[in-house]
Order: sequence, then C-alpha cells, then structure tokens
Amino acid sequence: MKLAIASGKGGTGKTMVAVNLAFTLSQTERVTLVDCDVEEPNLHLFFPAPGITTEVTVPVPVVDETTCDHCGRCEEVCQYGAMTVLRNRVLFFPELCHSCGGCTLVCPNGAIHEEPKRIGTITISTPLPNLKLISGMLDTGNPHAVPIIRAAKNLAANDPLVICDTAPGTSCPVVETLDGCDACILVTESTPFGLHDLRLAVEVAARLGVPTGIVINRSDGKDQATIEFCMDHDLDVMMTIPFDREIAAIQSRGDLLCRVRPEWQTAFTALFIKCGAITGVQR
Ligand code: SF4
Ligand code: SF4
Repeated sequence: MKLAIASGKGGTGKTMVAVNLAFTLSQTERVTLVDCDVEEPNLHLFFPAPGITTEVTVPVPVVDETTCDHCGRCEEVCQYGAMTVLRNRVLFFPELCHSCGGCTLVCPNGAIHEEPKRIGTITISTPLPNLKLISGMLDTGNPHAVPIIRAAKNLAANDPLVICDTAPGTSCPVVETLDGCDACILVTESTPFGLHDLRLAVEVAARLGVPTGIVINRSDGKDQATIEFCMDHDLDVMMTIPFDREIAAIQSRGDLLCRVRPEWQTAFTALFIKCGAITGVQR
C-alpha cells in the first residue's frame, strides 16, 4: 500500500502525522517513509541515521554551434521557452528546461546532444530496524522538484508499505507525489485558511482518483465547519488530534509523539486501518 500524507495549507502538522504513523507501523512491519517535500525535507530530523547519498541528474540539451544551421525547429518544439534561436546563435535557458528531449529529437542536423545535469540528491537510511527512510533534496536554486520526487518514489516502488510525505500546497510536486498512491491523508486545521486550502487539496486528490480521508490537527473543539465540509464531500474524518502544548513541544524538539507517549500508537494504528478501509486494498 502506498499512502500520501498531504495538506493544502503548510504548517498543519502533516509531517507530525507522517513520522508518527511510520514509527507506529514500523513496530510490527516494514515501512518505507519517503520525504517528497524535496525543497524542505525534514523527516531525517526525526529519524537521524547515517545514509547513502546519490545524485539525481536530468538530461539537458547541448547545442553544437558548428553543425547548427539555426533553422529554429528546437525553439518551435520547446513548450517551455527554454530555447531561443537567433540568426547566428542558439540561447538555452536551463532553468526553463523540463528535459523532455523534444529538441534533440527534432533537430534535423543532429546538432543537439544531451548531458546529465545534477539537480539534487537522494539519501537512503535505515534509522529503525523496520524503517527505511528515503529523502529527496533539491539543490538550492533549482526549480525542478518533480524529477527528484519521481526518483525517490521509484526507489520505493517495490516496497510493501510506503508512506510519502508531500510538499504543502497543491502544485506539481504534490500532484507527482499523489500520483499512483492508494490513499491520501489530508491533514488540516480548523481555521478559515485551513478550510480554504483543504478544499483545493481535496479537489486535486479527487481529480487524481486518490481516495482521501481527513485528519484534523490542533483541534480546539471548534471543528464544525471542517466537519460539515467533510460530510458534504463524503470524506471520513479519520482522526482528530487536540491542541496540546505538550504535543507541540515534543514535535518541536524533533521527538516523536508515539515514542514519548506510546498510548498514541493505538490512535495511529486505527488511522492506518481506516486508510485501508477507504482504499479497499487487501493487505
Ligand atoms: S533544431 Fe538543431 S539545427 Fe535547428 S536551430 Fe536548433 S540546434 Fe540548430
Ligand atoms: S529538452 Fe524539452 S524542455 Fe528542454 S529545451 Fe529541449 S524541448 Fe525544451
């Protein structure tokens, strides 16, 4: 089973849910936790351990000006504006390139070849006997998170139970992470901003066909608007975590709620069982 832990709004406690769910399940089975928030990965802070780091590269085009006749075909085919052909020169803008390979394919003179360009890293570690952590990290200044997320997910493709911690929001990195998951847990908070962004996230998950359940975090008991939204959209509120200074303190010092207060493992186990129920995946 592949689960995504997402949130429309940042700061709702998505990572807290991901690390505690992974920790709890790893007490009884093998779990792979994938940090898909590659612009700001932080799961390794909760599970520090030495790891093996490899580079992630993407192919980028290189133009040989000696064989280029400046026909303009590469500029025409590029949907991202990464190629501009001048009368006597081709300008390439690597930050716009999505490595689709189109320009290399259409060049009639074979003037383009591809070379690998580093965009980030992936680190694999085993912080607990039953827990594998795969952390993607985008290099500073690089705008292309998706290839790193895809590479990180591919490394977990054959693992039996995978939990992917997404980036906040509803942009391409979130779509890439949700794609192919059996279920999505959306972590929200009962504030107007939380509900606004929850609507967007629910819509994204629905369009991708990923069954979704809701976790309300930092609840002060005034969750009626969120609960009504969930009822209107046939979404199960699978767990409610109260506003609690001790929980916040545990999280902020990089510890795990389920390790410090093991009684919470029961609630996270129940959350996982509810995820199984919404996916229909037999385990
Ligand atoms: S398609 Fe090839 S030959 Fe034409 S401008 Fe681009 S690099 Fe030059
Ligand atoms: S590889 Fe694709 S995105 Fe990059 S410059 Fe060529 S056509 Fe444009």
